[in-house]
Amino acid sequence: MTLFGPSEETPLPNAARPAGERAALLAWVAACLRAEYGERELRPRREPLHELISTILSQRTTHDDEEAAYQELRTLGDWDAIIAAPTAEVAHAIRRSNYPESKAPRIQETLRRLRDAPGGYDLEFLREMPVKDALKWLTDLPGVGVKTASLVLLFNFSRPVFPVDTHVHRINTRVGTIARMGEQAAHRALLALLPPDPPHLYELHINLLAHGREVCTWTRPKCRVCVLRERCDAYAQYGERVPSFSEKPAKP
Ligand code: SF4
Repeated sequence: MTLFGPSEETPLPNAARPAGERAALLAWVAACLRAEYGERELRPRREPLHELISTILSQRTTHDDEEAAYQELRTLGDWDAIIAAPTAEVAHAIRRSNYPESKAPRIQETLRRLRDAPGGYDLEFLREMPVKDALKWLTDLPGVGVKTASLVLLFNFSRPVFPVDTHVHRINTRVGTIARMGEQAAHRALLALLPPDPPHLYELHINLLAHGREVCTWTRPKCRVCVLRERCDAYAQYGERVPSFSEKPAKP
């Protein structure tokens, strides 16, 4: 019988608990990670449109490669020049980012749509637009999914959304603040457990990234040194042999 088998002595896994208990667990996770990695100040990294384009470049790409691709893209000139450049040239400039052939035409089309919109390249209107509408507006752009849209809204406009990337998704699934589900569905599930407090959402997002890169890695997580171990579903089930992460349940 597995630890979570049907028995009176076995504790309920976190993922099966009511939303209120999982919200309290997530608040505990945030406090543990703050103690481990420190407080984070919500500060925009770049201007909104620059952030949007660099976030598209960051999809399935390491931070260093995203940065290299972004810097080389900017050598092509201003936004108008990037739109006018041959797509192959844009793809070459962003080659350090994964899937440059797909991203180049999407970036050009996104820029083209913005250039032709009433406000042009200025995204400042997203600061006041209702969050739901702002997410819809951004995700209607080519190459912009809910994670990219959430990053721009939270980082640049302090809007109460919670970007779920692979680290955020993996840790929360393993700890059991959410059940197993896809990354898209996890956005809504996690946001429902969190206070609508942008500085808190930002800090938790950044600290989960740090924890996912350093400790709760995709394969062979370092549970022995993990500050979340005592309340983690995956650790309770597998001990220090937590399997590589998959959205589907792993075989015990
Ligand atoms: Fe990840 Fe292990 Fe920590 Fe659980 S105990 S959050 S599986 S590193």
